[in-house]
Amino acid sequence: MKRHGRETEGPTSSHSSKSGGEGSEASPFLTQPEELRRFFHLSARETAAIESVSRVYPLKIPRYYASLFDRTATRCPLSRQAIPSLEELNSCSEADPLGERHISLTPILLRRYENRAVLLVSNTCAMFCRFCNRKRLFKEGFDPLPYLEESLGRIARERSLREVILSGGDPLMLDPDLFFEVLSRIKDIRHVAIVRVSSRVPVVFPEGLKDRHLRALRRQEPVWFVLHINHPKEVTREFKEAVRALRRSRCVLVSQTVLLRGVNDCPHILKDLFERLVVLAVKPYYLFHLDPVMGTEHFKVGIERGIEIMRILRATATGLAIPHYVVDIPGGLGKVPLEKHGIRARVGHRVHLESPIGGEGVYIDDAAESSCLRCGLCRGCGKGVKVKDGGQKAKKKGTAQRYEAKKMEVPMEISGEKAQDGGRNSYDLK
Ligand code: SF4
Repeated sequence: MKRHGRETEGPTSSHSSKSGGEGSEASPFLTQPEELRRFFHLSARETAAIESVSRVYPLKIPRYYASLFDRTATRCPLSRQAIPSLEELNSCSEADPLGERHISLTPILLRRYENRAVLLVSNTCAMFCRFCNRKRLFKEGFDPLPYLEESLGRIARERSLREVILSGGDPLMLDPDLFFEVLSRIKDIRHVAIVRVSSRVPVVFPEGLKDRHLRALRRQEPVWFVLHINHPKEVTREFKEAVRALRRSRCVLVSQTVLLRGVNDCPHILKDLFERLVVLAVKPYYLFHLDPVMGTEHFKVGIERGIEIMRILRATATGLAIPHYVVDIPGGLGKVPLEKHGIRARVGHRVHLESPIGGEGVYIDDAAESSCLRCGLCRGCGKGVKVKDGGQKAKKKGTAQRYEAKKMEVPMEISGEKAQDGGRNSYDLK
């Protein structure tokens, strides 16, 4: 695997970058507290505070994204995501609460579930988000390239892997030639049927999406492209251009959002964001509850608040704009949906359902039992497996025990909920 240099052309935005090291005058990124001070007219005290935090968790903000900040507002939802805060240092949470270190097939290949894996293909992002759940990697100076060849070989040998998620860091921060090489080598592996790319570049640094990235995506279509976006103010003209370019490259577009205090913990803000995305043909896919990662507690929103936001979204927004509201269970036990199921009570066949717009209705749950269709897809096929409707447990007869074991490959019974999807960009999938 060759190492590739970085490039700087940027056709998708009027904010084209020029060559220059990060943090230099010509760089498209602000990385020094002193630059930030000039940009925002910060006091010496504020600059010193930012400096002390950025020594622990580095600072990096694209000039494009900084240009979107509301400098007159005391609480700008975009600057809150980007500017270091002293609150990051008052933390007693863990660096890796999801236990990613314990599910590594190689130092950059994570596998929590049998059928999918996350490849941490890039060591940097366009912006270091202050709430990031992989903050530890920025501290550690993580470099994936030495492990890339070994990881691609491992994916090829693991025949049960059906899906690979490119994450990092941000895959679009790779040189486009290397991005193409990685993408095409994964697509060439016969048992890998689905490839996801998780990125925040089109949102915070649209000029980073190069024509050559787009050509790579088009040549490997279809690629599922997950946009990490948190606020309607991030839906700019440049972002829309990037989305259109991705659509022309035949990507399937979905989004993920992190629920963040002081940024988007409001149903009106999220409704606005999700409906804008639907208009752009981007399906809101995940709303993530914040992971309990060190240095991010000040972004935490209560679960009850999240559930209430989802209730209001269901009552007021188009159904296309409703994402899955999920949390990653600490300890690395996978994702679970957080919304209360709408079932209030069950009396015999009568299921009492709570309406998102208020009130209650009754569904008569009197269907006949489902039985095996003998399709041959599972090992319990034709051996007497029966699945009851109404969320009741599968009956076990004879070899049905094996069917039960197969079901457990992905979901886990946790407090009555089932673990769901396992992929993550830093919030994938992230
Ligand atoms: S991995 Fe995602 S959330 Fe974390 S800093 Fe990079 S872009 Fe932001």
